[in-house]
Amino acid sequence: MNNPFWSPALAELEPYVPGEQPRGNRLIKLNTNENPYPPSTRAMEALADPQLADALRRYPDPESTELCATIAAQEGLAPEQVFVGNGSDEVLAHTFYSFFRRGADEPLLYPEITYSFYPVYCQLYGIPHRSPALREDFSIAVEDYAGPAAGVILPNPNAPTGRYLALEQIERLLELQPERVVAVDEAYIEFGGESAAGLIGRYPNLLVIRTLSKSHALAGLRLGYALGQPHLVEGLQRTKNSFNSYPIDSIAQRMAAAAIADTAWLRDTRERVIATRERVARELEALDFEVVPSMANFLLARPRAIGAESLYLQLRERQILVRYFNKPRLSDYLRISIGTDSEMDALLAACREIQGTAD
Ligand code: PMP
Repeated sequence: MNNPFWSPALAELEPYVPGEQPRGNRLIKLNTNENPYPPSTRAMEALADPQLADALRRYPDPESTELCATIAAQEGLAPEQVFVGNGSDEVLAHTFYSFFRRGADEPLLYPEITYSFYPVYCQLYGIPHRSPALREDFSIAVEDYAGPAAGVILPNPNAPTGRYLALEQIERLLELQPERVVAVDEAYIEFGGESAAGLIGRYPNLLVIRTLSKSHALAGLRLGYALGQPHLVEGLQRTKNSFNSYPIDSIAQRMAAAAIADTAWLRDTRERVIATRERVARELEALDFEVVPSMANFLLARPRAIGAESLYLQLRERQILVRYFNKPRLSDYLRISIGTDSEMDALLAACREIQGTAD
């Protein structure tokens, strides 16, 4: 529709299409990489803290002082090296706005296949970008990230491939773009990878972005954060304050701090998710799927016996939701989040039945 009120940029904007979030409890939901386990009981207990009533009567601490101190202590950093946001999507939005708007001859670099919010932010903020191709096996070739650029952003592990870059490769990226921010989106780092946060002291251009949505089973809380040297954190704060965007609410500040402090919960949950992932990868291979090596809480897998879209639709009929991307290079694959063992058994049984390999 030709709408005279919309600017040409708005008319061209292709909004982000999130994974389906149907409400209904009979579904097996393996399409948006949520954690299948309940959050830490210590996080839930923060809701019952008698002091919460008083905290709720007042406006929230705009600086999220205690939460930043908890995150900093966990990472061996100073509180001035921590920036918190309402979900890592908000942290990402401020990252794009603060560091990547530079002009036509300096495109932002991110991989050809990656988190689908990155192109949306580029469109929103008018940021040109260049997207180096992935190798045949979906791995990232870091040498392609040289040359004039506004910066680099990439998830590690990458989404939706699950492929992981070792820290030497992240260091190589940081060295290829010493004058630009290299943002490493570690939404899935807890599921087997090694965080780049330990490199922050040595690299003034490194920004590490995390979320509690996957690792801590708190997607509904909306809490993400960035770690970097104080000059980067100050840049993000400047943007956040200029947009006058919301502080973290008092409930989220308290629950997030309690969840982050519960390191035993994280260790157990991550081990369970990893063990299930490895088992399901082997079982999918036995069902003639090609499975991309993953260090995340999902698997990208290509059924050889049946078209991916057809399998997606037939799983859906059986109340099992996985993610299908009708995009170049991905249209033969499904992204399957790691659920509980019994959810994954139901998925495997449905695949067997659909493929006609059930006995
Ligand atoms: N980064 C990546 C790579 C993701 O896959 C996601 C989740 N879709 C996010 C960031 C955003 O996570 P949240 O806003 O829930 O923190």
